[in-house]
Amino acid sequence: MSHRTFWEEEIETLPRPKLEQLQLSLLQEHLAFAYQHSPYYRQTFNEAGVKPSDFKHLEDLSRFPFTNKKIERDRQLAAPDLGDMVAVPEEEIVFVSASSGSTGVPTLSPFTKKDFDDFQNVESRLFWAAGMRPKDRYLHALNFSLFVGGPDVIGAQNLGALCIWAGTVPSDRLLYIMKEFKPTITWTTPSYAWHLGESALKQSIDPKRDLYIRKIIVAGEPGGSIPATRSAIEELWGAELFDFYGLSDIFGACAGMCSAKNGLHLAEDNILIEVLDPDTQEPVADGEHGEMVLTTLKKQARPMIRFRTGDIVTRFRDICSCGRTHARFTVQGRIDDMLIVSGVNIFPSDIEYVVRGLPGLTGEYRITVYSEHRLLRFDVDVETIEGYEAHGERLAQQVIEQIKQRSGVQPRRVNVLPNGTLPRATHKAKRIVDLRNTEELAKGAGI
Ligand SMILES: [Zn+2]
Repeated sequence: MSHRTFWEEEIETLPRPKLEQLQLSLLQEHLAFAYQHSPYYRQTFNEAGVKPSDFKHLEDLSRFPFTNKKIERDRQLAAPDLGDMVAVPEEEIVFVSASSGSTGVPTLSPFTKKDFDDFQNVESRLFWAAGMRPKDRYLHALNFSLFVGGPDVIGAQNLGALCIWAGTVPSDRLLYIMKEFKPTITWTTPSYAWHLGESALKQSIDPKRDLYIRKIIVAGEPGGSIPATRSAIEELWGAELFDFYGLSDIFGACAGMCSAKNGLHLAEDNILIEVLDPDTQEPVADGEHGEMVLTTLKKQARPMIRFRTGDIVTRFRDICSCGRTHARFTVQGRIDDMLIVSGVNIFPSDIEYVVRGLPGLTGEYRITVYSEHRLLRFDVDVETIEGYEAHGERLAQQVIEQIKQRSGVQPRRVNVLPNGTLPRATHKAKRIVDLRNTEELAKGAGI
């Protein structure tokens, strides 16, 4: 059993026409269910003048209204505690996760027993695609407190791996667990993988030689799909990195990398993906950037119909070399983090791509955004590794040129700082300092 390539071969390799047929019939049923049982969907479908019976082809989904984080939060506040997007009586709900609430009131994400089992089956599938097998020991070091990624350890356990439910513990404790219990796979953010590896080296533990981690799953930041960031972490740990993508509104992980590592496979039998131009909401072609809009196909506790994720992605639907037919995507970044400089879109991940790839730099960076004569400008702070301090000017020039080459625009200034100047992130890195609002406020106050 552990020699098989797929967790569920038939569904993962379903030819696209059959996969789309499956999506169509699941979604016809799901829309009808949402309309019948969720006051929110009934109201918004009525307002948009659409009925579930209007959905005859997958393209008909474009006639149905969008939802987003703000609507989710507003509807929760309007009908506490779970909101009127919910489509089942509370006694059928067995689990809720909550978003971090970093941009407002935390939103609750409810699951029925079947939703939860479907969720964990998708997690098992993604873990299997990343190479986890029953002989592995999986160290689950994600937050268990309300976080939707917490229960993903059950997916690993259902797969047959030996699971160590560590949760978020201090780095020293985690390194101790890694030495004593010899886990072979773990899951964290790219920032934390780097931080933990460096902490180990400071304690004279060489992650490559003294620990047993051979695969690291990362999520929560774009680094896992940026080649130079990936290879820096892989080199530090002597491990292979697999990028996953999840969101509290749907599943802890909705998509993950396979061994081909050319994008993240979405579980398309559970979730339908649209990639739309963020301004016109028209579909973009495969291979082009657009906002990812996700629709659940089975999740009954709270169906998510056309949820605007705020993530800019590129999608591919050709068959992957691994044999899976489910769509793959790569994430460029959050729409909120996108900078429009001289009419060109640029993401922090474009800068990271350059900074991590240049020898002589630590890979840490900070972007400062401001306006000058009403035009958006940005500066980039980077750090040299020890021994490269004398090459600051040359490195700054290289950073400017390579960012320009990659994105078409360039930073106003690149400041090369000594190693250790920039703040180190432990979990999620904050890379942008936005001075635009402060400048406007200062002007408003006559300063
Ligand atoms: Zn693949």
